[in-house]
Amino acid sequence: MTLTLRMAERLLLGDAETAPRDDVRFTSVCTDSRAVESGSLFVCIEGERFDGHAFAEAAVRAGAAAVVSSKLLDLDVPVFMVRNTVQTLGLLARGCRDAAHARVLAVTGSAGKTTVKELIAAMAQQDRSVSRNAGNLNNQIGLPLSIFRADPKAALWVMELGISKPGDMDELGVVASPDMAVIHNIGCAHLEGLGDLDGVARAKASLLRHLRPDGQAVVNADHPALLREALALRPDLVRYSTTDKDSPYFCCFTHNLAEGRGRYFIRTPKEQGHVEAPFCGAHFAENLGAAATVGHLLGLDLAALQAGLDALHVPGQRFACRDLHGVTIIDDTYNANPISMHGAIRTAHDMARDNGLPLVLVLGDMKELGNAARSEHEALGALLAECRPEAVFFHGEHAEDVARGCRCNGLVRPVAEPDALLRHWRELDAASSAAGAVVLFKGSRSCRMENYAQALRREL
Ligand code: ATP
Ligand code: MG
Repeated sequence: MTLTLRMAERLLLGDAETAPRDDVRFTSVCTDSRAVESGSLFVCIEGERFDGHAFAEAAVRAGAAAVVSSKLLDLDVPVFMVRNTVQTLGLLARGCRDAAHARVLAVTGSAGKTTVKELIAAMAQQDRSVSRNAGNLNNQIGLPLSIFRADPKAALWVMELGISKPGDMDELGVVASPDMAVIHNIGCAHLEGLGDLDGVARAKASLLRHLRPDGQAVVNADHPALLREALALRPDLVRYSTTDKDSPYFCCFTHNLAEGRGRYFIRTPKEQGHVEAPFCGAHFAENLGAAATVGHLLGLDLAALQAGLDALHVPGQRFACRDLHGVTIIDDTYNANPISMHGAIRTAHDMARDNGLPLVLVLGDMKELGNAARSEHEALGALLAECRPEAVFFHGEHAEDVARGCRCNGLVRPVAEPDALLRHWRELDAASSAAGAVVLFKGSRSCRMENYAQALRREL
């Protein structure tokens, strides 16, 4: 932990007001009073459900050495009074970022940020020390907390940045101030805040405004709107692709291996070859493409990428394939937006088709799509009509939109709880339509599709 009381004073108050007193190095920075330990800096944040100011006294009792607050508090430790405590958290994190030796790599996009971050970290760890955000801490609170927890002596920090409305990227970009930025993809996600696909492209590309002057931009060239916006900011950007074989950095999926593993072909300006990954499907090729590109720019070769893949801890609920008594369960229940939904369905469809097996889809709503919700669920229906699965079970308010887009009478069956799925499953089973099926579970976080996956696992 780099941050000290003096450093915080300097960052928040300026040098002039620094009181002459012994310095204290904070042991951690916390926004949750339950995580406070002796010597922590506690930052009061007003959330939707809780106001952190109400827990400031408890934080001090638990050992907090100082508090950042936007309300008057009477406490026995130094209190930094600020107007906006979230911005202050970012300001303090930026101070730590500037004080660290690490090269900072920021990854943003609509789908696959955590996967790409983990991939790059696993690869780079082969020859250097790396810190990265814990889990998915990627917003205006999570990114600073990730930075406070990062090792200031590490050679590389890999940080995922997640946004949901205009302006978010500027706030995150200022905090991360990256040496390298990967803009991975755009899709219809967070349209409630970002408007349309062009709005998503503009917002993601705006990270490039925050690159350090000698920084490097790395952009997925398969998304024309994104490429256009990014080129306007950084004509010298490095591009990777999964479709353009002439791209200097290219990656494509070749085939599925056993136990949910996949084989991919990669080419960089230095070398080309195959890697074996603990995930599968064409929609993960761009994740590997991003990692291979960054790897080459950092002086790492495909052998390091393969070693990283061998050591990779794949975060759960992200297209995790498991064979259970002859049925392939694909747990992709972490979340869903149109880009990841289409990718997952196409990949599951190919897995079933290549092995002559039935495909069963257990899907849930895609949330936060604003005005595009109806048309995006109709488009999902159209994809289902194309894939022709054995059965589709749909949980959520958009079941009718999906059925309308699908136009296959009776294919999309609404389900309200896991027991309903099990009743349908038993019927399929009795008609021998479920034997050896590939079953994909996917929906937005709030649909909790893992409950459906869990129910079927128990049934099997
Ligand atoms: P979040 O916005 O929640 O932080 P993320 O961008 O970090 O998400 P991941 O956590 O890596 O993304 O994956 C989220 C979902 O998208 C998972 O269901 C995963 O299987 C799927 N996914 C991962 N990479 C891709 C990709 N390149 N294209 C489509 N879907 C993907
Ligand atoms: Mg993530």
